[in-house]
Amino acid sequence: MLTPLSLLAEPFQDLQGEVEQHYDSELKALFEHFHANPELSFVEVESAALIAERLKKEGYEVHTGIAQTGVVALLRNGDGPLVMMRADMDALPVKELTQLPYASTVMQQNSEGEMFPVMHACGHDVHMTSLIGTARYMAAHRETWAGTLMLIAQPAEEWKLSGAEAMRAARIWERFGTPDYAMAFHVTADLEAGLLFASTGAAYSAVDSLDIIVPGIGAHGASPHRGRDPVVIGSQIVLALQTIVSRELSPREPGVVTVGVFNAGNKRNVIGEEARLELTVRSDSRATRAKLLSAIERIAINIGRAGGLPDDRLPRIELKGGVPVTANDPDVAARVVMAWEKRLGTAMITTYEREGMGGEDFPFFTQEPDIPSVYFAVGGTTKARFKAFADRGESLPSHHSPLFEIEPRSSVISGVLGTVTALQALMPLR
Ligand SMILES: [Zn+2]
Ligand SMILES: [Zn+2]
Repeated sequence: MLTPLSLLAEPFQDLQGEVEQHYDSELKALFEHFHANPELSFVEVESAALIAERLKKEGYEVHTGIAQTGVVALLRNGDGPLVMMRADMDALPVKELTQLPYASTVMQQNSEGEMFPVMHACGHDVHMTSLIGTARYMAAHRETWAGTLMLIAQPAEEWKLSGAEAMRAARIWERFGTPDYAMAFHVTADLEAGLLFASTGAAYSAVDSLDIIVPGIGAHGASPHRGRDPVVIGSQIVLALQTIVSRELSPREPGVVTVGVFNAGNKRNVIGEEARLELTVRSDSRATRAKLLSAIERIAINIGRAGGLPDDRLPRIELKGGVPVTANDPDVAARVVMAWEKRLGTAMITTYEREGMGGEDFPFFTQEPDIPSVYFAVGGTTKARFKAFADRGESLPSHHSPLFEIEPRSSVISGVLGTVTALQALMPLR
């Protein structure tokens, strides 16, 4: 389906020079504005309005107010694939402690009416700014691609309710067309500013939130033999769950089963009626996800049995939601990396090993139906900042930290260069 990369011959200097100029003339001020004016999930009202206004000015057909604040913008440019690029807009309820001249002092009511200090502590300001940079380049250079470009500004990536899921529930594919390919990127403080990375495997993990309810049979704490103790049975379940990843998954297959909450009892000399365990379960494939969930259920039920619980009071699982795995399509990812190498040069491309198993709500866009997609990373920390922290023996402030900082110039510019090149690779001229 994909045609050769013949079109990407335009010298890198032209593209880079133009994007750098756009950064200095407009994107720098836009980034600082987004950073200084962060908004919480589902109340990204001003950010969405600004993005919509800028995209309209570039000639896009703009639809607003989708799932509260979501924006879908279309640029039709002849026959070719429909390709979607998404940027998330929300900030976090974190009080900014950086010394940046454009640091946020904003307080805002969240979607549930509670007041919080707000900070772009995950870098979504970089994503929005880059989306506008991409929009302008693609509109100004229609001679370099063919098809339909769909730009999405998404609310609420950070919230318990997913903005991506909400936009799908608003039937965006039915209204605007189902993309042939989908893309997104995240700026990351863990990579050197300006570098690009795209995995051919999972970019983010599937996250499942689930509770295990362990019934007990209440009794006096001095007469444990007259009851069934949910604290003891629950504790055995917690320990037995540790064998799932260590003994049931292949040693080369990542997975996490973490019990974050264990609630039981309210008096020291009473054996209670229930214990509740709250888990986060992480996996990088649908098969592993199914294996983890079924092992958790099997262990919980059978340890309940071993603890003497009757068949009608065995432990049970309640699924509380989650996100699917962000699985890059290997062919699309390889094609994008090939285009980057050809167009931007190998010095801008790096490799990266994920340490943890964080999740993303982007896959709500790329499943049912499955849409081949690539989710890439853009580095956001200068060499000097890495060195300064290393010299002091301190670890770099992470995403969601009040001290989180991104070097905007190279991050935004690389975000635009990476996106534009990927779009051109997926929407070549015939
Ligand atoms: Zn985040
Ligand atoms: Zn984020």
